[in-house]
Amino acid sequence: MSIPDDLKDLAGFHGHLCPGLAIGYRATLAALRRLGVERSRDEELVCLVENDSCSVDAAQFLAGCTFGKGNLFFRDYGKQVFTFARRGSSADAVRVSLKPGAWGEEVPPDPGEARRAKLERFLTMPEEEMFWIDEVSLDLPPEASIQPSFLCDSCGEPVMSSRLTEKGGRRLCIPCSEGWRPPRR
Ligand SMILES: [Zn+2]
Ligand SMILES: [Zn+2]
Repeated sequence: MSIPDDLKDLAGFHGHLCPGLAIGYRATLAALRRLGVERSRDEELVCLVENDSCSVDAAQFLAGCTFGKGNLFFRDYGKQVFTFARRGSSADAVRVSLKPGAWGEEVPPDPGEARRAKLERFLTMPEEEMFWIDEVSLDLPPEASIQPSFLCDSCGEPVMSSRLTEKGGRRLCIPCSEGWRPPRR
């Protein structure tokens, strides 16, 4: 089984090469090709993922849709579904969903062998057997904004203004408002 260079780089980022990563790799490449775009340099692409497993690292590494840039959105639905869109053209979204038969039936008894077999399966399977791919429209959250920070009246740590809450006349960060005891300094 030959491993493409971009998948080797992705495995370096993720930490290992696994069947889940291969799913994300195929899903991301399929979506980018449909959208006719390259890796997102800034925020022109957004991705909505419906799971938080290995596969999501492919969207981060290959499409540049990252948690830190604010163009990766997570819904905890436990589904291998990835929706990519260009920001500003919400109608232009591609939803890639792993088909029920994609994992296959046969499982070799040895776990290492089973893992290799699944990996090879996901890397060689024809795209149309592996995924449903649909054009959809996606309501995109607004672009990440930079807000001023203020100090929490309890822990004294700077907090983004929109995350401060008012409690008993004091302005508190969320953990302090929920009873967190800050370390003494
Ligand atoms: Zn993994
Ligand atoms: Zn606090």
